Amino acid sequence: MKQKAPVEKNQVYEMTITGQGSEGQGIGRVDGFAVFVPDALPGEVADVKILKVQKQFAYGKIETLKITSPDRTEPKCPLARRCGGCALQHMTYDAQLRFKTQKVKDAIHRIGGLTHVEVKDCIGMETPWHYRNKAQFPVGKGKNGIEIGFYAKGSHRIIDTDHCLIQHSINDVVVEVVRQFLEQYGISIYDQEQKKGLVRHILTRVGFQSGEVMVCLVVNGNHLPHGEVLVKALKERVPGLVSVVLNENRAHTNVILGPKIHLLWGKTTITDKIGEVQFEISPLSFYQVNPVQTKRLYELAVEQAGLSGKERVLDLYCGIGTISLFLAQKAKEVLGVEVIGEAIADAKRNAQLNGITNARFRVGASEDVIGLLEQEGFAPDVVVIDPPRKGCDPFVIETIAKMAPQKVVYVSCEPSTMARDLRLFHQLGFVATEATPVDQFGQSFHVETVALLTKEKPI
Ligand code: SAH
Repeated sequence: MKQKAPVEKNQVYEMTITGQGSEGQGIGRVDGFAVFVPDALPGEVADVKILKVQKQFAYGKIETLKITSPDRTEPKCPLARRCGGCALQHMTYDAQLRFKTQKVKDAIHRIGGLTHVEVKDCIGMETPWHYRNKAQFPVGKGKNGIEIGFYAKGSHRIIDTDHCLIQHSINDVVVEVVRQFLEQYGISIYDQEQKKGLVRHILTRVGFQSGEVMVCLVVNGNHLPHGEVLVKALKERVPGLVSVVLNENRAHTNVILGPKIHLLWGKTTITDKIGEVQFEISPLSFYQVNPVQTKRLYELAVEQAGLSGKERVLDLYCGIGTISLFLAQKAKEVLGVEVIGEAIADAKRNAQLNGITNARFRVGASEDVIGLLEQEGFAPDVVVIDPPRKGCDPFVIETIAKMAPQKVVYVSCEPSTMARDLRLFHQLGFVATEATPVDQFGQSFHVETVALLTKEKPI
């Protein structure tokens, strides 16, 4: 017979929060039945109203908080609870870092079953605010006029706001100038349902080292009426402005950017540096959003690769070659592999820009290219992998194992898939010794990790 859940919708239960889910939600239990409670922290006791009951667990929300955790803090942003971006603003930053360390530990020790791996403390930011170098603000039309801000959690409703505390502060000025311009000249705004209107998003990029600023309006068209007025206002108000462009996106989908760029003023790219390596960035380029922590992450990856200048390095999932170019300064040669052709074009240009001649790049899916490389007899000393959230295809891991490098450095943005992959590496004789979480996204539940694997010596 089907067992009934011990909680009922709309009823209130007192519970102690004993754990935290991977997205930071508190977890309490009623007769052993798990209840997920956003915003609740371990150690807290609360009356929780049940909102939804499922087979294995329920969702609830805090009605009354009876015992408060010392890790709790008042969110700095009044919109934090409604916004999809900052799920951890109710935790002190120190507690956020402990949460992230634990998240990586849980994944590697429990999902991966690799209890011997030493998980170091999460490397935090000096200031976990205003760290993002890229912002994308949706623009819409609401009852009270133009709305510019961000999407509410789990929806496409725009919450109008003047600033965001994790973005570079120059964005506040950009949004203000663009808003005034759109209102004053009655520029038409894109309507997602009607699939009509012009302006869809404001995208900005800021070079943290160079100080260069790009403003890009994403439009359902190829022309902005009175564009010269906007350029003039931006030039007056935005220090460091070097680029004002339109991105043409006529597709009626959720994808933010279209394929074409039209120049309104200045250049179509900005340049920035991570460490000593310079990058040219277009609105379409993938570029890490937290340059300060990215430098730390890559330095760690390079340090763990333990390069002496003699090694051949294979960098899989290389994007615009960021890690490859870092590695190339310390290795004999680097081969980067990436599935997106434009990213490889950027990688090659960036290698040239920096006078780096020992980095080569190849377009293709890692799972396709690696088989060819192995057949060609390519034998790297070190392999670096930085896959997307879903992790690596098993064939990639099996082929790396066949290539028998001395070291594998695994950079990951998703601890659970990394743990799964480390387990397969382990079965194939590559042992992870340590893993270091690095916080790239303060206030959010995301965490990056660098894990070092070495080939077990034959017994
Ligand atoms: N190492 C880069 C990018 C990491 S993000 C950096 O630090 O900047 C992951 C990258 O993997 C993305 O650029 C994505 O386009 C690429 N990618 C996704 N699936 C892939 C696959 N199957 N083979 C190769 N690259 C892939």
